[in-house]
Amino acid sequence: MNLSIVIPVYNEHANLPMLFEAIYNTMKNINQSWEVVFVDDGSADNSLEILQSYAQKDPEHIRVVSFRRNFGQTAAIAAGIDYSVGDIIVLLDADMQNDPADIPLLLAKLEEGYDLVSGWRKIRKDNALTRNFPSMIANKIISWVTGVHLHDYGCTLKAYRREVLEGFRLYGEMHRFIPVYASSVGAKITEMPVNHHPRRFGKTKYGMERTVKVILDLFTVKFLVSYSAKPIYVFGSAGGFLILLSAISLGYLFVRRVFFEVAISTSPLLPMTAMFFILGFQSILMGLIAEMLVRTYHESQRKPTYTIRKKININE
Ligand code: UDP
Ligand code: MG
Repeated sequence: MNLSIVIPVYNEHANLPMLFEAIYNTMKNINQSWEVVFVDDGSADNSLEILQSYAQKDPEHIRVVSFRRNFGQTAAIAAGIDYSVGDIIVLLDADMQNDPADIPLLLAKLEEGYDLVSGWRKIRKDNALTRNFPSMIANKIISWVTGVHLHDYGCTLKAYRREVLEGFRLYGEMHRFIPVYASSVGAKITEMPVNHHPRRFGKTKYGMERTVKVILDLFTVKFLVSYSAKPIYVFGSAGGFLILLSAISLGYLFVRRVFFEVAISTSPLLPMTAMFFILGFQSILMGLIAEMLVRTYHESQRKPTYTIRKKININE
């Protein structure tokens, strides 16, 4: 199997017929074996029934994984990747905001020798104030913090070589950070503009609050990518800095006492010295605990972040 398209689906029944039509239109011109893995993320409408009927008609290409409840887009994507078999994985939204017709362009770009081609919704058709603007700021911050410069982390439509998706699990809103993980394992990354359409049916599951979550996730990602093997570097540096502050402040009190005869106990610097010292010491101890956790984390079994009700056309 060459190409796996992974699509998370949550209450998208009105979009699915058009989506299938667009996928078949694109795939009939493609000269490689392909499959589409749909992950029904606990839809409450009849999305699952629709997916099921297509899967029955075309067991060669259409696979469905259905969650017991709504676990979120990231978990759905993770499951889709887990149950796909292609060497190349393309992620796509189910709501027809992404255009399946862009897939061959992404694949051609991969062929040029890239491991990851990131779609960029250059002309984005979402709410300018609540979505596009916060997202632009978030993209700038993420690029700056991680050193992986992309215009559109949030665009689901991206193409990946499977190798760069292996070795990490996705939590929270983390699917958008795949390029950061991929870059940390040495992937060659590029981006290319893709089409974007307004949502015609159903409604978006997100608002501005997602930007906040994304920024919080960024802390975790930065920590995991840069320090997950060595948390003591972060905790130890912070702790060392605080202990240094404590030493400077104590030295200052000492010099004042000896040469200028100012009483030590009247100065607020004394309790601050103690505080800096305790915090610094604590931070170093926490770093050591984190080092132990990291070892458990890396050595424990891989646990999925979802439970599955049903699998259709999936070979274990
Ligand atoms: N989605 C999902 N689970 C969720 C929320 C969304 O599987 O809990 C799917 C949704 O069906 C769509 C994609 O993720 O295929 C993107 O969602 P949406 O269009 O709401 O996001 P937006 O385009 O507004 O960022
Ligand atoms: Mg959408």
